Amino acid sequence: MSDKFNDLSKKEDNVQMNINLSDLEDVYCLSCAELYPEGELQNIFHQAFILKRLNPLQSPDGKARVIPLPIFICTKCGNMIDLETWHNKFNK
Ligand SMILES: [Zn+2]
Repeated sequence: MSDKFNDLSKKEDNVQMNINLSDLEDVYCLSCAELYPEGELQNIFHQAFILKRLNPLQSPDGKARVIPLPIFICTKCGNMIDLETWHNKFNK
């Protein structure tokens, strides 16, 4: 069992090493692209979190919890990037 697990993690490492980051397309802020159509595409984001409260009735062990959901905020306009909208716009 542990050998299989090791094989899987080795495969994942190989996949990551075969990707050249400079070949990948930048995700940029759609709000900035509309606000500053002549400007450079804004592709730098802060990571932040939306905190969701899981109440005891929804929780598998009956304990209340706070669940952090990672989000990305544009450093220029402050809007949250909606990655689902971004994917839908460009992955047709
Ligand atoms: Zn922006």
